[in-house]
Amino acid sequence: MFDSLKKKLSDFVGSFKKKEEEIKESAEAEESKEEAVEKKREESKKEVEKKEEESKEGKVEKKEEVKKKEAEESVQKIKAEITATTKIKGLFFKKVKIKEEDINDMLENLKLSLVEADVSYDVAEKFVEKLKELLVGREVDSKNIEKEINAVIKEALLQILSKSSNIDIVNFVKEKRSLDKSEPVKILFLGPNGAGKTTTIAKIAKMLRDAGLGCVLAASDTFRAAAIEQLTMHAERLGVPIIKGTYGADPASIAFDAIAYSRAHHIDAVLIDTAGRQETNKSLLEEMKKIVRVAKPDLKIFVGESITGNALLEQVKEFNEAIGLNGIILTKLDCDPKGGNTLSILSETDIPIIYFGTGESYERLIKYNPNEIIENILS
Ligand code: GDP
Repeated sequence: MFDSLKKKLSDFVGSFKKKEEEIKESAEAEESKEEAVEKKREESKKEVEKKEEESKEGKVEKKEEVKKKEAEESVQKIKAEITATTKIKGLFFKKVKIKEEDINDMLENLKLSLVEADVSYDVAEKFVEKLKELLVGREVDSKNIEKEINAVIKEALLQILSKSSNIDIVNFVKEKRSLDKSEPVKILFLGPNGAGKTTTIAKIAKMLRDAGLGCVLAASDTFRAAAIEQLTMHAERLGVPIIKGTYGADPASIAFDAIAYSRAHHIDAVLIDTAGRQETNKSLLEEMKKIVRVAKPDLKIFVGESITGNALLEQVKEFNEAIGLNGIILTKLDCDPKGGNTLSILSETDIPIIYFGTGESYERLIKYNPNEIIENILS
């Protein structure tokens, strides 16, 4: 996961590294020039000393006096040259001030690379603008360019990724139940067909069960073939109750029955599965609105496939406008080498990503953690 994003950013850092090498090469050239000058200076000095010695001994003729003067002049010239090169060298080794024209091409390439890694164009543009803002005018130690650029990227990523206010479902259920024992916590899962809703509900049911909390599953996906059997299979495996109807039955009424069952049996939470067909999007959204009216969920969680690419952001926006979302679970991150849409969603919406699905088995649900993502991308 995040492999492509990681590669694109490290290529960008690499392009700075090239610049760093250019600077070092130039500094090394200066250094060898200085060495040559130093050698010349030593030779001239020896020559001057020799002449001085000869002069003391009275061996110098008029012609040699002239030669000695010339040698002294040459030493002065060399001294001036050394001071100049030292100054230049100082400039190279101390700090490099980043100018806009130095990085424009690199940032343009980075923008296109991010789009290739499934970051939406607008988000890639904003991210690159942010980087530019943080980089231009910055004085970086020429020996540590890579480290410093990585720190700047980290800062820009953190600004986007840490925006997500996390929801811990176990704590959420515990807190709500401690305030009101008579009402179960209702969590509605929605999203496109095949995104992983049923599987994710099973993972959450296990997570609640492991934390000592009870839950009931509502098989409100009465549309997709095998959806009811699939959820039933999970319920049996996990030993949790399930309320179901027949295919084509009203999903809202099944959710209603599950909530009534929970109240009667003092169960902590109701996890409501829903259908996600896309070909009749309008009626699907109407159906969702009806379930929301009837079930009054405490949390409306969108389950989307990370591998959907850029279309994912549009789906999230559409569902959010229709019913308002509280959180997102991104599934199949194990099959997504790109991972850029995490950045897109968090930049373009205020909906937190709360978990990632990283495989089919129950324990493959990891909590969203911006620092871990950054470690993943930049390590
Ligand atoms: P639904 O139609 O939204 O309820 O989707 P399902 O729960 O039936 O999942 C569709 C397929 O995706 C199933 O084969 C699941 O095993 C698989 N799946 C769900 N989540 C993940 C995940 O995080 N990683 C992988 N690799 N597969 C997943």
